[in-house]
Amino acid sequence: MGFFDKIREYRKMVSQVESNIYGEKQDYLEVYERNQQLEKEIEERTAELNVANKRMLSLQHIWDMMNSSTPLENVLDSVVNSIQGELGYLYSAILEKKVDDDGEYMEIVTQSKDSPLTKANAILDSKIKKIKFDADGIFADAIKNKKIIQTTAFENILKYFTSNENIIKATGLKSVIIIPLCPLDKNFGWLCLLNSREDLAEAEMDFLTLFGQQIEISITIADLFQAVKEQAVTDPLTGLYNRRYFEENLKKEVIRSKRQHSHFSIIGIDLDYLKQINDKHGHSYGDIAIKTVADILKTNARAIDLPARMGGEEFNVLLPGIDSKGAAIAAERIRKAIEEKELDTIGHITASIGVATFLEHSENIEELLELTDQAMYASKRNGRNQVTIAKSISETSWQEIAINTFIDILSKLPIQKELTEELKERLQNNELCKDTLYNVADILTTTYNPMHSNGIMKSKVLLATSLGKRLDLSKTELDNLRVAILLYDIGNLLIPPEILQKTTPLTEDEKTHIKEHPMIAAREILKPISYVQDVIPIIEHHHENWDGTGYPNKLSENDIPITSQIVLIIDSYFALTENRPYRKKLSPQDALEEIKKEFPNAIIGLS
Ligand code: GH3
Ligand code: MG
Repeated sequence: MGFFDKIREYRKMVSQVESNIYGEKQDYLEVYERNQQLEKEIEERTAELNVANKRMLSLQHIWDMMNSSTPLENVLDSVVNSIQGELGYLYSAILEKKVDDDGEYMEIVTQSKDSPLTKANAILDSKIKKIKFDADGIFADAIKNKKIIQTTAFENILKYFTSNENIIKATGLKSVIIIPLCPLDKNFGWLCLLNSREDLAEAEMDFLTLFGQQIEISITIADLFQAVKEQAVTDPLTGLYNRRYFEENLKKEVIRSKRQHSHFSIIGIDLDYLKQINDKHGHSYGDIAIKTVADILKTNARAIDLPARMGGEEFNVLLPGIDSKGAAIAAERIRKAIEEKELDTIGHITASIGVATFLEHSENIEELLELTDQAMYASKRNGRNQVTIAKSISETSWQEIAINTFIDILSKLPIQKELTEELKERLQNNELCKDTLYNVADILTTTYNPMHSNGIMKSKVLLATSLGKRLDLSKTELDNLRVAILLYDIGNLLIPPEILQKTTPLTEDEKTHIKEHPMIAAREILKPISYVQDVIPIIEHHHENWDGTGYPNKLSENDIPITSQIVLIIDSYFALTENRPYRKKLSPQDALEEIKKEFPNAIIGLS
C-alpha cells in the first residue's frame, strides 16, 4: 500500500472515529437533555408532592386531633390555622349558623391568628362576631346546594366584616372561597377562605372538598363524644358510679321510699390525710389510696347498694331499704376494712365516715346529703377513722349549724388560702367548743373590718340572746338569731376592701353598694346551705327601720321580724362602741343613749 493509500485509510479511520465520537456526542446530548427534562419534571412533581404532602399532613393532623379527646373548639382552631398557614391562604375562619330572637345570624367561631390579614390588624375585626344571615346570599347558596363556592365578587361578603377597603387591597385579596359544613346533613356553618389567587384548580377543589368533609367528621365526633360523656355513669379512675348517676338514683330512691314508707341510708366516706399521702409519696400513690377505698366499697356493697365517687376523695354509698342501725353496721364494716388494708409504701390508710337516713333524719334530699356531710365532719373533728350517725336538724345545736356553715363558706369563698385552711382546721379539729366558733367569726370579721376587736362576737351573741329571752323568743327563734348574729355581715367578704375601709366620704354609688351589697351577698352565700334558710330573712331585714325608712323593703313596725330588729340594735350598739375610720368610739353609756334616740319606739330591753 502506497503512502497516499495509507493516509486515505487513516483519514477514513479518523473520520470514522470522528463520526463515532460525534454519534456518541449526539447520544450524550440527547441523554443530557433528557436528564434535564427529567430533572425539571422531578422538580415539578416534587413541588406537587410537597403541596399534596402538606395537605395530607393537615388532614392527618386533624384526623389525629379528632381521635384524641381534644375539645371541638381546639380542633377547629387548629383547622383554620393549619389551612391558612401551610396552604397559603390569606385568612381562614369558621362561621357557625345560629338563631336567636332577632332571627338567623352567622358567628365567627374561630379565625386564623397569624394570617397577613389579622396581622395587618385588619379586615375581620375580632369584635365583629355576629353577622346577619342573608337567606338569598352566597352563604345560604353554599349550604343549600352543598357545594364549594369561589367568588371574585367578594365586596358584598366583606362588608360584613370591615369597612376598610384599603386593607383588603393591600393584602392582595383576589377571591373568597366558601365551603359549606353540613355534618350529618345539619347546617353547621362554613369554612371561609380568603385567597390571593383568582383561580381554583381542580386538585385544590378536590382537596378542599376532602378538607370540608374532615371538618364535618370532627364536628360529628365532637357531638358524639359530648353525648357519650353525658351518658357516662362511672368514674374513670375507680370504676365506681359517678356523682351524676348517684344523684339521679338518689332522686328515684326518694320517690320509691316515700311511696313505700321505707328507709334508705347514705354513707359518706372521706379519706383521711390524703394531702399528706400526695405530698409524701406523690400523686400516683394518692390515686392508689383512692382506688383502694373504691375496691373496698365495691366488695362490701350488696347488689342493690350504689357506691359512688362524688369527686376527689369523697365517696357515698346509697343503701336502699336500710335504716340508720343497719347503715351504722355497714359503715363500721367499711371503716374497719379500710383501716386493716396494708398498702405498699403508704402503709395503712383510714377514712372518716358519716351516716344519714331518710325519714329518720330528714325527708329532703339536699338536707340529707348535708347531714351526711356534717356527720362525716364530726368524725373528722373527733379524731378521724370513725363513724358518726347524723342528728336530725331539730336535734342539731345552733353551734353545730354555725360551724358547718362557716366550713361551707370557707370552702367556697375567695379568702386567702392559708387563712381558710387554718380556720377550717380549727373548726374541724376542736372538740365542739363555743369559743372556737366565736374566735373564727372574729378572725373572719377582721379580714374585712380591721378595727373589729377580738371577743366582740361572743359579746354580741350573748347580748342578743339575753334580749331575745326577754322578748320571749322560742328556742328555735333564739337559735336562728344567734346564727344570724354570727353571719349578718358575711357578705362584706365579697366587697372590695378599698370601699369598705375608705376614710374619705363615700360617693353615692359606693354608698348604695355598701348598703345593699352585703345583704345580697349574704343571701347568695347562704342560699345553697339548706339548714340556714330560716336565718336568711333575719339577715335580709336587719336594716329595716321602725319608721319604714330602712332597706331593702322599707318594712315598718311589726312587719319587721323581731329577730331582725334585735340584730339591728346589736349591730348599732357595737358599731358605736368600735372605732371607725371616720369617727372615734363611744362609751357604752353614750352608745346606749344614742340608740335610744335612734330607736324610740323599737323594742328596747337594753339597760
Ligand atoms: P382530711 O383528713 O381532713 O380529709 O385531710 P385531707 O388531706 O384528706 O383532705 P383535704 O380536703 O385537705 O385535701 C384533699 C386532698 O385530696 C387535696 C387534693 O389534692 C387531693 N385529691 C383530690 N382528688 C384527688 C385524686 O383524684 N387523686 C389524688 N392523688 N389526690 C386527690
Ligand atoms: Mg380527706
